[in-house]
Amino acid sequence: MRDTGYGDGGRVGGNSGKAGNGGRSGSSGKSGRSGRGRAGGTGGSRKGGGGRGAGTGKGADGRRLGRRALLIGGGAALLGGAVLAREELERYWWLVPGVEKERVEGALDHPGAEWTAASRANWRRADRPDDYRVDRVVIHVVQGSYPTALKVFKDPFHGAAAHYVVREDGHVAQMIRELDVAFHAGNREMNERSIGIEHEGFVDRPEDFTDAMYAASARLTAGICARYGFPADREHIIGHAEVPGTDHTDPGPHWDWDRYLRLVRAAAPPRKERAGG
Ligand SMILES: [Zn+2]
Repeated sequence: MRDTGYGDGGRVGGNSGKAGNGGRSGSSGKSGRSGRGRAGGTGGSRKGGGGRGAGTGKGADGRRLGRRALLIGGGAALLGGAVLAREELERYWWLVPGVEKERVEGALDHPGAEWTAASRANWRRADRPDDYRVDRVVIHVVQGSYPTALKVFKDPFHGAAAHYVVREDGHVAQMIRELDVAFHAGNREMNERSIGIEHEGFVDRPEDFTDAMYAASARLTAGICARYGFPADREHIIGHAEVPGTDHTDPGPHWDWDRYLRLVRAAAPPRKERAGG
């Protein structure tokens, strides 16, 4: 869990330099608190599902949509000129570089997860996949219970947290937005390119890895692969133990990788729902 790249000072400075250009700097102030709260969030959509008009708001709605449509057009060309339904394009506008992502309080990246925030000290604000490409999932085992994981990730002195924690009964907590960089892999570059998933239990207790946990985690990982358009294989879905420079051993020898990858592939969303066509 621990992040040796935790001393994040230099990078933060670098980022704010970058953020200084034009529209981007305004984004943190805006930070889309639309007051709609949780309701739209569970749709799994970045922009909070339902209330499109209400969500974008701000009076300049027409202009915003116009710019968005333009950018989406470029994105569609990049996707190989596929003719995508307008509805589909609107769902993927946030993948296009330079388009500011809206943050809605309580929004989730994984439908059905329970939002419970990690301490702000255990992650770094980012704008993925615009600033960092996401192409890895890192599998962890807590070496403890689900409540323990939540507790330490909420502790500002812990210095680490993962995006998700999966309980033995298959319940999933989301603690950090996928937009942001969680300190979970002990390697800055890996943190920047990955989503971290913790699993309740201990590496030396195979009985902790329940059917429900495998299934729920596989659905979560399948969704991540689809959202960012990378394959569900062992190059892209790795254990914490495989992160360069780590001294961690999780998820350990009892984690059934063959089974897990089979489940992830089986849980892949229908192709038309995937980013990139
Ligand atoms: Zn770990």
